[in-house]
Amino acid sequence: MNCQRCNGFAVYDDSVVVQTGSSSEVHAWRCVNCGMIVDEVIHRNQQVPLRRKGSGGSKLRQYGDAAA
Ligand SMILES: [Zn+2]
Repeated sequence: MNCQRCNGFAVYDDSVVVQTGSSSEVHAWRCVNCGMIVDEVIHRNQQVPLRRKGSGGSKLRQYGDAAA
């Protein structure tokens, strides 16, 4: 996976343990480039599919009249 900050290479790091507040601990990825920590929860939240912008091309202007 890639770092969210610098898009560098992030490695799964067993030494990084993130306390989630619940009973479970999660491990995390650590960017080898900038050192940013991305835990599984953050990673999961970023998996939300993005909506495509501008779907539906019905608003395209048509130039048929000007050519006449
Ligand atoms: Zn990074």
